[in-house]
Amino acid sequence: MAAPLFRRMALLGVGLIGGSMSHAARRGGLVGEIVGHAKSERTRARALELGLCAKMYDNPADAARDADLVVLATPVGAYAALAAAIAPVLKPGTIVTDVGSVKAAVVADVLPHMPPGVDFVPAHPVAGTEHSGPDAGFAELFDNRWTILTPPEGTRPEATEKLATFWRALGARVDIMTPPHHDLVLAVTSHLPHLIAYNIVGTANHLEAVTESEVIKYAAGGFRDFTRIAASDPVMWRDIFLTNGGAVLEMLGRFQEDLSVLTRAIRFKDGETLEKFFTHTRAIRRGVIDAGQADPETAKKK
Ligand code: NAP
Repeated sequence: MAAPLFRRMALLGVGLIGGSMSHAARRGGLVGEIVGHAKSERTRARALELGLCAKMYDNPADAARDADLVVLATPVGAYAALAAAIAPVLKPGTIVTDVGSVKAAVVADVLPHMPPGVDFVPAHPVAGTEHSGPDAGFAELFDNRWTILTPPEGTRPEATEKLATFWRALGARVDIMTPPHHDLVLAVTSHLPHLIAYNIVGTANHLEAVTESEVIKYAAGGFRDFTRIAASDPVMWRDIFLTNGGAVLEMLGRFQEDLSVLTRAIRFKDGETLEKFFTHTRAIRRGVIDAGQADPETAKKK
């Protein structure tokens, strides 16, 4: 087997994403040793039981000490404090990365703490489920999914290339873009859909004329798919909307304009507009399936 890409990987956060990175890294023999840190004693104990990390530390600096790859894998709201805590122990040549769902705010929070000779290469694996915690991780999460790297200006190209090689070995495909462009793309492909799902599930819950049991009983009519997305982790999503508000508000404006077009078509019984709109959206769904980015189960229902 080839030599590991990194000697010691420190996972700061061992939930769905950190846990999956451990599984996939061990599957491929990509790192010599994996150590970690998590906020609660319960998660630290569970990460050891599951074999996600060989050692778990209650202090993030102890986990990062002597690591050549440090991964921030907590909700993004915790990054600034973690970066400040680990900065004094980071050695030149270390790569620090993250997995956060927003990028411009993360660069602003983390980069100022990085000592000379340490590269911060932000990353976002565009893969996930609605489950959280160390038990939620699995080795195949990143297979054939995209991971976006957003190296800030001044990052050594070798560091970006090494992290790209690592992500490809974890199973992912890799794209590189600027942090603001990432945030705009993800606002429309991920953040806005989550906001709509949270909102529609909330609306159904507030209706007085339809009882809660009816909403659940007839969920297969379409509501069900929104409930899956709206079950996503509340802290993680709070942080995403707090840190990518600008791009989300811009997309929300466009969304409201398009909704007005549909509202008008329904009011004036304009079937042609509705059918044209829905035909176009169906073609987008086919594009997602053809690109291999649909859930295997739902992809069958072409
Ligand atoms: P998760 O399953 O909830 O795990 C979060 C981990 O971070 C847990 O180990 C938690 O420890 C730890 N943690 C939380 N606050 C902390 C703090 N202040 N200090 C130290 N450790 C702390 O979350 P996740 O889904 O893996 O998400 C992690 C990151 O990945 C987020 O930044 C998110 O934006 C990004 N992401 C998520 C998805 C997704 O679908 N879930 C997809 C792509 C990217 P305790 O259990 O002890 O609290």
